[in-house]
Amino acid sequence: MTVTVATLGFPRIGPKRELKFALEQHWAGKSSEAELLDAAAALRTAAWARQQALGADWLPSNDFSLYDHVLDTSVMLGAIPQRYGVAEGEATLSTYFAMARGTTGATESCGHNHGAGQTALEMTKWFDTNYHYMVPELTAGQRLTLNASKIVAEYREAKALGLETRPVLLGPVTWLTLAKGRDVDPFDFLDEVLGLYAVVLSHLKHAGAEWVQIDEPCLVLDLNDIQRAALTRAYARLARSGPQLMLTTYFGALDDNLNLALSLPVAGLHVDLVRAPQQIDAVLAKAPATLLLSLGVIDGRNIWRADLDAILARVAPIAAKRDIILAPSCSLLHTPVDLALERKLDPEVVQWLAFAVQKVEELAILKRALNEGQASVQDALAQSAQAAAARRTSSRIHDPAVAERMRAITPDMLARKTPYGDRRQIQEAALPLPAYPTTTIGSFPQTGEVRHARAEHGRGNLDTVAYGRFLREETERAIRWQEEIGLDMLVHGEFERNDMVQYFGEQLSGFAFTVSGWVQSYGSRCVRPPILYGDVSRPKPMTVDWWLYAQSLTEKPVKGMLTGPVTILNWSFVRDDQPREASCRQIALAIRDEVVDLEAAGAQAIQIDEAALREGLPLRQRDWQHYLDWAVECFRLGASGVADATQIHTHMCYSEFNDILPSIGAMDADVLSIETARSQMELLAAFADYRYPNAIGPGVYDIHAPRVPTTDEMVTLMRLAGQHLPPRQLWVNPDCGLKTRKWEEVRPALVAMVEAARALRAA
Ligand code: GLN
Ligand code: ZN
Repeated sequence: MTVTVATLGFPRIGPKRELKFALEQHWAGKSSEAELLDAAAALRTAAWARQQALGADWLPSNDFSLYDHVLDTSVMLGAIPQRYGVAEGEATLSTYFAMARGTTGATESCGHNHGAGQTALEMTKWFDTNYHYMVPELTAGQRLTLNASKIVAEYREAKALGLETRPVLLGPVTWLTLAKGRDVDPFDFLDEVLGLYAVVLSHLKHAGAEWVQIDEPCLVLDLNDIQRAALTRAYARLARSGPQLMLTTYFGALDDNLNLALSLPVAGLHVDLVRAPQQIDAVLAKAPATLLLSLGVIDGRNIWRADLDAILARVAPIAAKRDIILAPSCSLLHTPVDLALERKLDPEVVQWLAFAVQKVEELAILKRALNEGQASVQDALAQSAQAAAARRTSSRIHDPAVAERMRAITPDMLARKTPYGDRRQIQEAALPLPAYPTTTIGSFPQTGEVRHARAEHGRGNLDTVAYGRFLREETERAIRWQEEIGLDMLVHGEFERNDMVQYFGEQLSGFAFTVSGWVQSYGSRCVRPPILYGDVSRPKPMTVDWWLYAQSLTEKPVKGMLTGPVTILNWSFVRDDQPREASCRQIALAIRDEVVDLEAAGAQAIQIDEAALREGLPLRQRDWQHYLDWAVECFRLGASGVADATQIHTHMCYSEFNDILPSIGAMDADVLSIETARSQMELLAAFADYRYPNAIGPGVYDIHAPRVPTTDEMVTLMRLAGQHLPPRQLWVNPDCGLKTRKWEEVRPALVAMVEAARALRAA
C-alpha cells in the first residue's frame, strides 16, 4: 500500500514576513497593485517549490490569501455587503481591502471620494486559534454571484509551473456557520451557495484538478439539525460532478458527527489525530475501504518536533492495510515558517522544535519509513527518538522544585480568607475611595517615542541606564498627569512593556522567545507567541520595582499590574507533554509570588488581567465546564495569597459573559473591569440577574476608536449601568488599556471621564 504526504496549507506570510511588507507598502501607496500581486505570486511559487522539495505529494493551492481565506470565500460567492457600493460580483482589489480594513473616507486611488468611509467586516477568532477571520455578512434579499477567478487562477498558475495542486476550498457549511445574517438566517442561502460551489468545482475540474480539499472544520463542533441537514444536502450536490473531494476536518474529534461525515459521498476524509488521537479506532472501524483516509499526525497548531517512532507505531498497521495520506493535523498556517531562521534560540531548546518546513520534513521521513522500510531513514528516526528522549528528561524542562510546589497546593490557597462582603468593608477602611471611583486599565499610549526608545535599547544603541531613565520619566509624567486630572486609583502606565504576555514570559523560567517565529494573526499582522517549554518559576520579582517607583511619586494608590495565568497560557505555544491546566497552574504559582511581593512592597490594589480567559473556551460545549473550572482555579491560585485588605482587580476585554457568569463570579475578584461602552450597558442586566456581588467597572470609554466621548455620554452610560446595579458596586473606567491610543485622544477623554464621575457623585 502507498503512503503519500499532504500539507493542507502552508504559511502565507513568507519566511521573512514578505507578504506583510508587500501589503503595507501597497496600502501606504508606495507600490502598485501589480507590484503587490507580483510579490504575492513570488511567495506562492517559493512555497510550492519548498513543499515539493521537502517531499509533499499533494501541494495545496488557494491556501494563499492576500488577507484571509474566509474573506476570499465571501468574495468568491459575491457576498459583498451593499455598503461597499460595488455592482454585483465586481470585486476589485480595493473592494477586497475595504472589506478587510474599512476605508477612511479619504479620496481613494480611483479618484472618487467615498464619503464618510466604510467600516470593515467584523473580525473574530478562527475556531480556537489566534488567527482572525473576516466574518461573512449576509442580508435578507441579497443576491450572490460567482467570482471563481482566484481559485482557478492559482490552480492554473501552479500548473504553468509544472505543478499539480489540490485546490483548497473552505466548505459551504463551515462558511455559512461562520456567517452572520442581518435579518436573515445564513442557512437560507444554502441552495444559492451550493449552486455557486458546484460551478466553482466544475471550473476546477475543467482546468484539470482531480482533487479538491474541501475544509469543513465545522464537523468538529456541536451541530444543530439545520447544519447537519445542510451537510447532507451540500455533499449530495457537490460530489455529483467535479473533482474528487477530500473532506477535511481539524481542531478536534468528529465524535457524534462521525457517522454523518462518513455518510457524505466524498472520496476522502482528513481527520485530526493530534487533538483527537483516540478517534482513529472509530474512523477505521467505520470508514469504507474505498475512502481515502488522510491522517493528521503532525501537530499543525504547535511547534514541537514529533516523536516519529511513536507515530510510526500507530500508523504502520493502518498503512499495511490501505493507502493513506499523512498530513499535519490542520493547515500549517498556524505555525512559524522555518526553524532554520532561528539563530538565537538555545540549541537545547531548538532540537525539540519543528516549524512548518520541519514538519513537512517529518512527514516525508514517515512516508519513506512506511514505503521503503525504516532502514531507509534510520538516522532521521534515531535523531527524532533522541530529541524526544532528551525532552522527557531534560533538567531545562523538569524542575523538581516546581513539581514539589505543585504537589503542595492546598485548597486554602485557592480562596481568599474571607467572603467578599466582609472583605469589602475591610478594604473600604484600609483604602477609602469616593463613590464611583475612577481608574484606568493599565497602559497609557505607547507613543512612537516609547517604541523607538525600546527598539533602540533592543539594538544596543540606547544603554540600559539611559533607557531606564527615559521610562522613569514617562512614568512620572503619567503619574503627575493622573493626579492632576483627579483620577482616584492610578496606574504606572506600562511603558516598559512590549506586550502583556511577552513581558512576563521573558522574566519567567520555562519560556523561550524566537526572533523570526512569526505567525499570522490577521491580514498583515503577525505575532511571535512565546514558547512555553518547561516548568515555570519566577526567579525574581518582575514588576515590583516599577510599582515602587510609581507609588513613590504619589499619595494616591497605584495599582500593581499583572497578566493572569490563563491569558499567558492562551497566548503562548504551550507544552504538549503535560495537560494545559498543569502548565497554567505553574504560571499561576509564579503570578501568586508576584502578587504577594507587590503586597509586601505596599500595594493595596493589584490587577490581574485575564484578557484571554473566554477565548480559551473549548470548541465543544461539553468540555466548557472542565476548562472554566481549572481556569478559574488558576486565577484564584494566583490571586489568593494576599490579606483581605488587599484589593484584587481583574480586567477582561470583551462583553460576552452571559454563558460564563457563574465562572466570572467564582473568580471572586474584588473589582472587575469589562468592555461595555458599545453595548449600552445591556450586558449588566445579566450581572444583575445573576446577583453578581463584587464591584464592576463597566467601560464607559470605547478605546477601540479614536473618538473622544463626552462627559454627558459617560454620565448617561453610568446611569444606564445604575439601572442594573447599585451605585456602590460601580467603578468608572475605560473599556481596555490605552496603549493603542494617542495622548491627544486620551487626555480629553479621561478628563471628561473624571468629570462624569464627579457629576454622578453630586447627583
Ligand atoms: N493592563 C493591560 C493594558 O492596559 C490590559 C490589556 C488587555 O486587557 N488587553 O494594556
Ligand atoms: Zn482589555
